[in-house]
Amino acid sequence: MNTLPKIESTERRPSPRLQLIARDGSDGAERIDPKTAHISAVGLEKNYYKGSIKIPVLRGVDLAVREGEFLAIIGSSGSGKSTLLHLLGTLDQPDKGEVMLHGQRIDDLPARKRDGLRNSQLGLIFQFYHLLPEMSAFENVLSPRMISDGVWKYWSRRREHEAEAKRLLEIVGLGHRLKHKPRELSGGEMQRAAIARALINGPRILLADEPTGNLDRTTGQEILNILRGLNEREKLTTVMVTHDLAIAEQADRIVRLVEGRVET
Ligand code: ADP
Ligand code: MG
Repeated sequence: MNTLPKIESTERRPSPRLQLIARDGSDGAERIDPKTAHISAVGLEKNYYKGSIKIPVLRGVDLAVREGEFLAIIGSSGSGKSTLLHLLGTLDQPDKGEVMLHGQRIDDLPARKRDGLRNSQLGLIFQFYHLLPEMSAFENVLSPRMISDGVWKYWSRRREHEAEAKRLLEIVGLGHRLKHKPRELSGGEMQRAAIARALINGPRILLADEPTGNLDRTTGQEILNILRGLNEREKLTTVMVTHDLAIAEQADRIVRLVEGRVET
């Protein structure tokens, strides 16, 4: 990430095909082998329970994302997009099925291993930013580094980490707001800080849940340009959930969640 220039790409790209992965491949859609994919899901099922009533949300999701690909997942509100992204990000576990990273199953690892893997290999971005309110933008960006290193290791390499946090905040266009707390930042600025935070441990995959969902169109487009720039320049594999087709159309590929499955 050392040569990353400031991202200002605003160019429009051709719309992606709505490319659907058929479970049996019978519709001619391109199939990506989950074993060779960067991140993949096979037969994912997830239910929630309201009292004794079972609410099936994911009913057998198959999804495979290539290394360096920018994939958009669309679907109506309540279709299970966040649930799926949380499962891919090991924030939650499926009732059935598998999540794989480079063909290795990760959903069934012990909690501590999943935490470590998530912190080092996955960058997570959310609609409502989830910044820590008492910390500055700069401290928020450093926080995953503090968690992954522990106090002593972090402290011994503090200058290096601080330089990296500053560099990342400059890349996302927030170099002039290092000391601002989240409440002193606009929505777009908070999302920029959240993106820099997602990058601090050098992940190769970004998982973004409605990253533009709380922003006006212009600001949302700026955030998308940053994500696209990272994908193109750094080849970061990106999985973005959105209900906004105009945003999804700028991905390399779109899949749609319908009734708990990737539509076929
Ligand atoms: P989306 O992100 O596509 O809007 P979600 O994945 O957030 O959808 O939710 C899918 C469905 O699961 C919704 O009907 C929602 O109400 C339900 N749901 C989500 N999280 C929980 C939970 N923790 N407990 C019970 N039901 C939930
Ligand atoms: Mg959601």
